[in-house]
Amino acid sequence: MSIREQIVQLGEQLPTGVTLVAVSKTYPPEVVREAYDAGQRIFGENRPQELRAKFDALPGDLRWHMIGHLQTNKVKYIAPFVELIHSVDSPRLLETIDREARKNGRVIDILFEVFIAQEESKSGWDAAELTDYIKAGNHLKFENIRIRGLMGIASLTDDTEQIRREMLGLGELFDTFRREFFAGHATPFDTLSMGMTSDWRIALECGSNMVRIGSGIFGTRG
Ligand SMILES: *Cc1c(COP(=O)(O)O)cnc(C)c1O
Repeated sequence: MSIREQIVQLGEQLPTGVTLVAVSKTYPPEVVREAYDAGQRIFGENRPQELRAKFDALPGDLRWHMIGHLQTNKVKYIAPFVELIHSVDSPRLLETIDREARKNGRVIDILFEVFIAQEESKSGWDAAELTDYIKAGNHLKFENIRIRGLMGIASLTDDTEQIRREMLGLGELFDTFRREFFAGHATPFDTLSMGMTSDWRIALECGSNMVRIGSGIFGTRG
C-alpha cells in the first residue's frame, strides 16, 4: 500500500478524538511530503537535529512532535517551533525546556514519559517517582511549559496480555493524575500518548488518545 493509502486507512480506523502522529524518523523530506500531500499534518521524530532539518525543508504548517529521548543541550534546536515534546523524562529536562521556551517567547506543551516496559533500556520516569515529584508541586514553577499528559512505550513482545497490562497501568496512572493533581487547572491534562504500529489497537482499548505510527505508514525502516 502507498503512504497515501496507509494514511487514509488509518484515518478510517482511528476513532474520533484520537490523534495520529506519523513517525517519520529516518525518512527523508520527500517521503514526509507524500504523507503531507495525503493530508497528514502531525509528525513525530526522535532526533532533534533531524527534526530541525525536516522543519527547515518542509512547509510551515507541519506540526512537529519530539518523541525520542532528548538531551538537554539539544532542546535549543527544536524549542522555536516544536508543538509537543512527548519524552520528558527528568526534572533537568523540564528546567531546560522551560528556559528555552522563554528565550523563544513561547509556551511549550509536554508529556511526561513514564517507564512501563520490562526492558532495561527504555527511558522514562518510574511511576512512583513521578507521583512524588508532582505531589510535591515541583511542576508548578514552570511558566513556559504546559503539562498535557503522559506518554509510554510498552514492551516489545508478542505477549499481548503483557502489553495490555502495561498499558492499562499507564491508563490508570493518567486517570489518577488527572483527577488528583490536574483537575481544574487552566491547562487541560488531556493527552495519553500510547501505541505504535504493532500495538495501537490495544492502546486504544486502554485509553490512549494519541498514537505514534511509523512503519505502519512509511514501511519498515532500513
Ligand atoms: C519509532 C517510534 C515509534 C513508531 O514505531 P513504529 O513501530 O514504526 O510504528 C513510536 N514511538 C516512539 C517513541 C518511537 O521511537
